[in-house]
Amino acid sequence: MNKTIFRSMLLACCVVMVFSLLVTLFFLNSYFMGMEMETLRGQLEMVARSIGQSGLDWFDSFSSDVYRVTWIDSTGDVIWDTESDEETMENHLDREEVAMALQAGYGEASRLSDTLSQETLYSAMRIDDGSVVRLSMTRQSVFRLTLGMIPYMIVVLIAALLLCTFISKWVSRRIIEPLNRLNLDKPLENDTYEELSPLLTRIENQNRQIEGQIETIRKRQKEFSAITDNMREGMIILNSADEIVSINSSAMKLFGGNSSVIGRGILVLERSPEFMNALTEVKEKGRSEYFFERNGFINRLIANRIHDDDNRDLGTCILIVDETEKVLSEGMRREFSANVSHELKTPLHSILASSELLMNNLVKEADKPAFIARIHSEAERLVTLIEDIIRLSQLDEGQDFPKEEVDFAEIASSVFDAIGKNAQEHQVTLSQDLDDIRIQGVQRLVYEIIFNLVDNAVRYSKPGGHVVLSLHKSQRGIELAVKDDGIGIPAEHQARIFERFYRVDSSHSRQTGGTGLGLSIVKHAASVMGATVEVASREGEGSTFTVVFPASSML
Ligand code: ADP
Repeated sequence: MNKTIFRSMLLACCVVMVFSLLVTLFFLNSYFMGMEMETLRGQLEMVARSIGQSGLDWFDSFSSDVYRVTWIDSTGDVIWDTESDEETMENHLDREEVAMALQAGYGEASRLSDTLSQETLYSAMRIDDGSVVRLSMTRQSVFRLTLGMIPYMIVVLIAALLLCTFISKWVSRRIIEPLNRLNLDKPLENDTYEELSPLLTRIENQNRQIEGQIETIRKRQKEFSAITDNMREGMIILNSADEIVSINSSAMKLFGGNSSVIGRGILVLERSPEFMNALTEVKEKGRSEYFFERNGFINRLIANRIHDDDNRDLGTCILIVDETEKVLSEGMRREFSANVSHELKTPLHSILASSELLMNNLVKEADKPAFIARIHSEAERLVTLIEDIIRLSQLDEGQDFPKEEVDFAEIASSVFDAIGKNAQEHQVTLSQDLDDIRIQGVQRLVYEIIFNLVDNAVRYSKPGGHVVLSLHKSQRGIELAVKDDGIGIPAEHQARIFERFYRVDSSHSRQTGGTGLGLSIVKHAASVMGATVEVASREGEGSTFTVVFPASSML
């Protein structure tokens, strides 16, 4: 702007300067010509009077280097001329000054020479006999004068140009200085040119609008951060140059970054080949997905391309979802199905084989009862297994069990009734030590827990063994324990006995009618009521299974 003002001012100065010089020259020329004409006229009056009196004789005494005198009769023919032969001179009636003098008594004119370098001034006057006396003088023309003045004009122009440059610079700086001092953050507080007021008012309004918009954006950003930071899923937003625009705390935790990564390339966080492939794929196909394992968790990374309505690339949105549970439970489900098929197959094969032998009369009469008993016991095992599977799948469905008052004493007595016969057969004594505690829980599930734990305790006890069911309140909560002095569980198996179909000794389990699902049902049922299950056992000495209900569930 400074330069523009300076250049405009300089140009204006130059134009004004040249114009003024030309105008001055023109007026000076007119002024001096007027004065010369005046002088010429004065001289002419004297000459005309003398010629009027003396006629041609006057010319004898005439001598001048400056003036030329021409005497012309009323028809325009030259009577005498002080510089040329009148015989050879053409008629002068068409000369402007002569025509004017003949008509009005006086006339004057000026004419340029062919080369424009000289100008002749003519002054003509009619005398009494009707003839015209003309006086003329030659001087340098205005063009010649101008040409002669060019060197001086150049000097003046250069001096004026320098002066203009200096003044233009100074003026433009003075104009710009207040503009440079403008405080655009508070436009209305500026004390500057009045003409700027509308502009400053508009800037003030725009500032307010921008501030409002920034505030809205900041608010949205905060809301966005609050939402994304509370997400369990990791989320990263990249711009089209793959630089991080936003990253939530879950993603930072997963990739080990902090807020300083914002604005930097995504490769500072992750540069695994799968990740790089995903970035390339998302650009080509618009979406990419892969699984990766980190810190013991299995994650699914989903990358989606973000684009505007004109399909211009705006960036990439990356979502990282923890799929550990899903993947593991899928694996477990697959394993469970395989196990179930295997567990079902064994008794069914046995039933099929025995019944085929019976049908084909290949069994001795004496052995028939044993075969029929085996078919019956295998069928019973199938029913128990199917019942356990149904119980587990009901628990797996995560259905909402209505809470009710749980009476442990009542449940314990019905479990003892159901198992008592079996305990007697195994020569195992059942006893109980229950405090009068009632909880808010699910009666059916508490029954499953006590039944399975007491049933196991009986089945894995030695003849003459003891099983004690107890219920006490402790600092940890309500503790329900089933203690036996049976075969115990080797330490290396204790962590896995709650897994479905996990058995320390399969043949013993099957022999005693176990399905391998009892403890899974116990653990699942307990967790539905917010309880935990733990085991303390020593091989050959016995085991204690304790279910700890939260104290808050006590009535
Ligand atoms: P099962 O039907 O085989 O008893 P469970 O899930 O109830 O299946 O138990 C899993 C395994 O834990 C059993 O096979 C057994 O080896 C062991 N176990 C459970 N309870 C006891 C116990 N009271 N004493 C010794 N071992 C036990």
